[in-house]
Amino acid sequence: MPSFSTIRRLVLIALLLAAPLANAEPAGADRHGEQTCPMATSSRPLRPLPQGPDGSAHSPSPAAAPAAPSPTAPDYRHLLETTPLGWPRLDRWCVWVQPPGEPGPGLRFEQRWQQAVDGALGSWGSELSLVMVNDPARAQILIHRRRPPLLDDQGRRRASHGRALLELLEVERQGAWRPEPRVQVLLSPDQRLEALQATALHELGHAIGLWGHSDEPGDAMAAVPGAQPVLSLSARDRATVRWLYQQPSRFGQPP
Ligand SMILES: [Zn+2]
Repeated sequence: MPSFSTIRRLVLIALLLAAPLANAEPAGADRHGEQTCPMATSSRPLRPLPQGPDGSAHSPSPAAAPAAPSPTAPDYRHLLETTPLGWPRLDRWCVWVQPPGEPGPGLRFEQRWQQAVDGALGSWGSELSLVMVNDPARAQILIHRRRPPLLDDQGRRRASHGRALLELLEVERQGAWRPEPRVQVLLSPDQRLEALQATALHELGHAIGLWGHSDEPGDAMAAVPGAQPVLSLSARDRATVRWLYQQPSRFGQPP
């Protein structure tokens, strides 16, 4: 039977051995989404759904009409927009964030920007599955450190610090084509930290499928921000996203 001091020594050795592993990923973890987020080898705009002889869509698709307001739940589901293929959401999103540039005078701003993005990813990540990847070809959400252009995609003049742009694509990954939403988020780094955090939270809310605006200023997805920047999700934001993620969607599913 080992003596007490031997046990203590063994425990110490075990602790020393375990220490470097404490920060490492558990065995089999997918550190950069290599397995959970396979590389896109090709992509193309989503084709219109085949039309039946009566002009109706050939294959049944979830309702493209906006949701009816909830009779009981305090959320804003009825203000969201959907797509012909159903709600633009995935069971798991692969997210690419523009990495910081070379060290230099701008690095401090880049770090602040990164902090705001991380905060927003953490907030939404508590409600759904986000996997970070370091290759844009693995991602459906791409977050760029860039001021949005003055003209939006419909040619309207619109100065803003953040914008989210949705494309509906068919993407080939591991030899299989699937419909996917792809969202480009443009987030300007030149804002104060709180404003940056609120913008990141709001634009990421669009990216994960909340295509619409809440009618209450205390929500992250408020159409008109209130006096205070919204830095965390409200109960209504959470209720809306939980409802959304229970809805059927053909995105990410085999055709
Ligand atoms: Zn918005």
